[in-house]
Amino acid sequence: MKRRTFLGALCAAAAIGGIAWSDDGENGDATEEIGGCEPKRFEFAEQKMGVPTRIVLYARDQETAEKAADAVWRRFDELNAALSDYDSESEIVRVCRESGKAGAPVAISADLRRTLEEARRFCVLTDGAFDVTVSPVVKLWRRSRYFNERPPEKILETAKKTVGLANWKLTEAGVETAPGVRFDVGGIAKGLALDEALATLRTFGIESALVDAGGDLRLGAAPPGKDGWTIGIAGLEKEGAAFYRTLANVGVASSGDANRFLEIDGVRYSHIIDPRTGEPLTRRCVATVVAPSATAADALASAVCVLGLEGTPELVERLKKSESNDEKAGAFDPLETILYRVKSDAEAPFSAEEIDVFATPGFADALDGEKAR
Ligand code: AMP
Ligand code: MG
Repeated sequence: MKRRTFLGALCAAAAIGGIAWSDDGENGDATEEIGGCEPKRFEFAEQKMGVPTRIVLYARDQETAEKAADAVWRRFDELNAALSDYDSESEIVRVCRESGKAGAPVAISADLRRTLEEARRFCVLTDGAFDVTVSPVVKLWRRSRYFNERPPEKILETAKKTVGLANWKLTEAGVETAPGVRFDVGGIAKGLALDEALATLRTFGIESALVDAGGDLRLGAAPPGKDGWTIGIAGLEKEGAAFYRTLANVGVASSGDANRFLEIDGVRYSHIIDPRTGEPLTRRCVATVVAPSATAADALASAVCVLGLEGTPELVERLKKSESNDEKAGAFDPLETILYRVKSDAEAPFSAEEIDVFATPGFADALDGEKAR
């Protein structure tokens, strides 16, 4: 295996295909005395935001646990109603329809504003690799999946013209866009929802929790008596964890082409688009990012896939600088922020020798002696 380890990096980490996790506390037997109360383990699962979601939390009693979980499900529904681009009545779809026509700012909710602010921040930080205005291009490639052919070139060219930060702005009055601009926040919204979920649980006094949305995670404080939550970091193939990490108080997200892709004439097109070219990624890759928030992990995992081995080291440099300048970003772990594995032209199953890896030092250590698949 060729390994490119970023030394002295501030950041590292990432995985896809669903991150496995456990707290070693099956069925509520991982408990410990805290202030005379024994927190018990509770687990809840629902289909939300189009993906299976799950909450594991430690609470003093069932009533608190259930109320807290219900509040999280309600928050997910609210965010979905604001941010889903699969729902023609969602706020984001309506705003896109209205703006551009209006020639004036369109008023937006606090949730949509925050999402678009974060989207802008990560677009700048990733030098345009993460860009929510990629939506018209994403839609054309989604259609391709149905018809099994590339989008017509002329239509693709028109769609690409609306991509980019210069085509929209946020003002106090709302959002203003050029005609044709559409937002797709699918690469960041799950992360944002996970951060919101943890914040919601905290209002019920719950600190020790894990929230999972389709394999992206937000980890709160460790389960009682444990060092953290044990997370299986997936490899390039769909099944199985390549290795495990024990983490707490971070977001963990993965992006890649393991689950969602399209094949035309033997070329495998990912659901991730390079906003700079309008083309889907065609390399087999998986990026895992561990970040102070799930919002950051989600956006950065998508961006790392776009940036690849060439661009990710520069992103790491920018993250290092943003740490001191940008309090909102929180501090990225100097050891574990980015893990990126890529194979351009082999058929699965892959052998470890065929895989290129970029890893910040903590991940490189984890990979030593492990299969990188
Ligand atoms: P994720 O699975 O988090 O990488 O998100 C992928 C989703 O984000 C896709 O299904 C698209 O809806 C959207 N997307 C694709 N490419 C990009 C990109 N370069 N920047 C932002 N969002 C993207
Ligand atoms: Mg993402």
